[in-house]
Amino acid sequence: MVSSLESSVGTERKVITELPGPKSRAMQERRKNVVSAGVTNGFTIYIDRAEGAILVDIDGNHILDLGSGIAVTGVGHAVPELIEAVSNQVAAFTHTCFMVTPYESYIEVCEELAALTPGSHAKTSALFNSGAEAVENAVKVARHATGRQAVIVFDHAYHGRTNLTMALTAKNMPYKDGFGPFAGEVYRVPMSYPFIDGLSGAEAAARAIAEIEVQVGAKNVAALLIEPIQGEGGFIVPADGFLPALSKWTTDNGVVFIADEIQSGFGRTGEWFAVDHEGVIPDIVTTAKGLAGGMPLAGVTGRAEIMNSVHEGGLGGTYGGNPVAAVAALAVIRVMRERNLVQRARDLEKILLENLNSLARDVNIIGDVRGRGAMVAIELVEPGTKTPNAAAAKGIVKYCNEHGVIALACGTYGNVIRLLPPLVITDEQLADGLNVLAEAVRSVS
Ligand SMILES: *Cc1c(COP(=O)(O)O)cnc(C)c1O
Repeated sequence: MVSSLESSVGTERKVITELPGPKSRAMQERRKNVVSAGVTNGFTIYIDRAEGAILVDIDGNHILDLGSGIAVTGVGHAVPELIEAVSNQVAAFTHTCFMVTPYESYIEVCEELAALTPGSHAKTSALFNSGAEAVENAVKVARHATGRQAVIVFDHAYHGRTNLTMALTAKNMPYKDGFGPFAGEVYRVPMSYPFIDGLSGAEAAARAIAEIEVQVGAKNVAALLIEPIQGEGGFIVPADGFLPALSKWTTDNGVVFIADEIQSGFGRTGEWFAVDHEGVIPDIVTTAKGLAGGMPLAGVTGRAEIMNSVHEGGLGGTYGGNPVAAVAALAVIRVMRERNLVQRARDLEKILLENLNSLARDVNIIGDVRGRGAMVAIELVEPGTKTPNAAAAKGIVKYCNEHGVIALACGTYGNVIRLLPPLVITDEQLADGLNVLAEAVRSVS
């Protein structure tokens, strides 16, 4: 291991070996003996330390992070406030199990979630460890509260990898293949995907609602579950009016509207939550990823009468709302407020969209540039068509990685490059990353 004392991380990308470097390559060989092949790595550099938007690998390369560990480290790496809060909590106590003997930070996180999530109605929360666990529990609550069973989900949706959330997720490979049977009473309807379907939000919502009413029946539906901006499915931003129309339909039909804000939430899109862009007020919001800056924590926050309809003891888990993760979330929220990071996400959107739209005019393989805040993507196509071009996306990621930039692919067809920089990334760092990305796009054009 490289000593963490060796040198400060600094703010610049610096590649000093071929990537992955020799020590990372040796580590990758070592892992093959003991780590399941089912768990893969996008970019096999092994990380020693990190700060802000820079990761340092065990070969001493300084890598620019445009992925934030999949939208988790929005406040950046090695945030002093987070280090202090977590260190103090580790020294005080690391675990009691909230269901056995409680502690204040759990309540404080729930107070913050009630204040930050949309709507001024009374809300209560339950805390968990992962996004998938939050989604499972949101569905449990909605079924319990309504006495109904059906759950409506969308094309391209991603909600996790547990049994119920695999059923809720759209894409077979790699998430579901051979892992069935899957949970029942899950019904999939078309998403609004303006680049592909050309429909207005109202038209796309009418199409989805018609399918629900014909194939399921409104009175059987417990919950409609949707990512307000789809993450793994391809950073699909639904047409304006789609989410409000679905929200109205759920209210009219006694259906619980669950916004899965696990990737799009916590300031990522330039509002605390992506539904805020259209004034939609969900009945339940699920949070995780950006919530606790890298500590495992997830939340289910909803209307008090829905969340409290569950019998005593019906929700919980050994580690849910762990005290170390809870104080990390409180530190994240403080840092977000003090450093105005929700506004920063809006500034980043301007830079990202301007830059990527201009790149898209120069090349013929970018079909669409879309996103909000610091959640922006390009969709790669065969020249002059809307046919997915996964090979281009793969080549772009490879080029970026080889030049010391982390960029992530996503999308049902694997043809979308998504940018999820830490919200603390500097203008200089972002410009550097976008230059490498532009070179990468040109190299595969
Ligand atoms: C990542 C993600 C999940 C699953 O979260 P995990 O913490 O990986 O279980 C669920 N929903 C969305 C929208 C996600 O992006």
